[in-house]
Amino acid sequence: FCSDPKTFHSLRPAIPLPPPSHPLSFPVFALSLLPSPLPSHPALIDAATSASVSFPAFFSRANSLASALQAHAGLSRGHVAFILSPATLDIPILYFALLSLGVAVSPANPAATPAELSRLVSLTNPSIAFAVSSTVSKLPSNLPTLILDSPTFQSFLKADATFEFPSPSEAIEQSDVAAIQFSSGTTGHMKAAAITHRNFIAMTAGFHALQPSRAGPDVNLLSAPMFHSLGFFFVLRTVALGDTLVVMDRVTLRDMMRAAEKYGVTEITAAPPVVLAMARSEDVMRHDLSALKRIVCGGAPLSEDAVERFSARFPGTLIYQGYGSTEAGGISRMIYAEECKQQRSAGRLSENLEAKIVDPLTGEFLSIGQHGELWVRSPAVMKGYVGDEAANAETFDAQGWLKTGDLCYIDENGYIYIVDRLKELIKYKAYQVPPAELEQILQTSPEIVDAAVIPYPQEEVGQIPMAFVVRQPGSKISEVEVMDYVAKKVAPYKKIRKVSFVNSIPKSASGKILRKELATYATSAPVPR
Ligand code: AMP
Repeated sequence: FCSDPKTFHSLRPAIPLPPPSHPLSFPVFALSLLPSPLPSHPALIDAATSASVSFPAFFSRANSLASALQAHAGLSRGHVAFILSPATLDIPILYFALLSLGVAVSPANPAATPAELSRLVSLTNPSIAFAVSSTVSKLPSNLPTLILDSPTFQSFLKADATFEFPSPSEAIEQSDVAAIQFSSGTTGHMKAAAITHRNFIAMTAGFHALQPSRAGPDVNLLSAPMFHSLGFFFVLRTVALGDTLVVMDRVTLRDMMRAAEKYGVTEITAAPPVVLAMARSEDVMRHDLSALKRIVCGGAPLSEDAVERFSARFPGTLIYQGYGSTEAGGISRMIYAEECKQQRSAGRLSENLEAKIVDPLTGEFLSIGQHGELWVRSPAVMKGYVGDEAANAETFDAQGWLKTGDLCYIDENGYIYIVDRLKELIKYKAYQVPPAELEQILQTSPEIVDAAVIPYPQEEVGQIPMAFVVRQPGSKISEVEVMDYVAKKVAPYKKIRKVSFVNSIPKSASGKILRKELATYATSAPVPR
């Protein structure tokens, strides 16, 4: 599986995909996988209200909504729609409606501040936004916005749809942008990653290939947010596979466990903190989770301790770990218990994927067991960052390899191990926190001369943002005041949660912050002043 010039190939059998030039939107692809007539079990269940939507009603509402958006909002292929909403039953329907029109879906975190949102909106240039009454005031006022919980929008969801999928002349190409998702990639600020219909088709085909080994449709409880790449993809995948999606928004572990018991959930999609909480909380044991066959975990590293404790508690539940990114899609996956000797691994390379391990200093292609940056090439890799040629040139090499920013090695059995993150990225509960954004905010304080932000390990959440701050001469700004200063300007998950004052920030000759050096200060007290 390692050929010359040192390219690693997936050991999983290749999955046939539709020819790339064949016009095909994700919703049409999803319908081609589903049985006819459509399944009668629920496509969606709202965990809070128990309201449900069957598959025929799902597609009928998506079609009705698409034709209404075409007629009343003039939406068509190539437009961009910004979405700012908690997870509700309307969101998967809206995603499918927009995708079937060829409109790129750009969902953002509803916890973002107005300033953060106006930056994201300026990156994607949307022609319309969708919000709920509680989030609409955060959006720029000049952006035409439809309110999801308004009678107008609800009237668009009639179940007696007449909409036809676009005829071949206006067909959607697989290379069309389906989603624009926000990620800081390997460095700097948030960027707008363009994910195509083909990217989603390729990733879904991987899951569809496993269908024959499944006992029947799954009931998936989605605890990952629908705006993040993991949750977004699982919405699309779950509908396309004919599974039931249990929709919840920002809930407690107890609510999740109640819903899992009530709806006979067979699969939970979650970030590592949920797995850890399930492995530890006593309350979890009061619920009947006997239907739970697997937990799909991704977005950040899963500790060995979490895997062991979870498996001891739930011996009948397999943990599927997925390693991937917004830009690359699913890179690898593994099933604990079946592959239990490889606990520190993130699994084997996904189908149809090629990888290289590259020395970050010399650019040399490395071999089995050697540590270097992971580069990947696959039909799931994004088209690129919208309107940011400099970032694209940094992220892709001339042969189309995407640089992941993760330091990895691959062993002789094809298992991939993530050793460290080379890129400037903090993952708090699997949410992306770009250090550059926080550093820029710190530097706007008149009390601060210079600042650097790095990840600091904390088991329950993965990592917290830690700031190293150089105060202005004479300034008495305290650690709490530094944290408050930033907290007022960012979404709660980006808050700085630890501060150290230093005399200077270590930098390279070219002015780059030496983050690894700061990381050693952070873990070896006392911090030099
Ligand atoms: P995102 O684009 O928000 O999904 O973040 C992608 C990054 O999260 C990857 O490049 C990794 O650094 C990290 N990541 C995602 N999944 C895993 C995993 N299973 N194990 C370790 N790190 C992960």
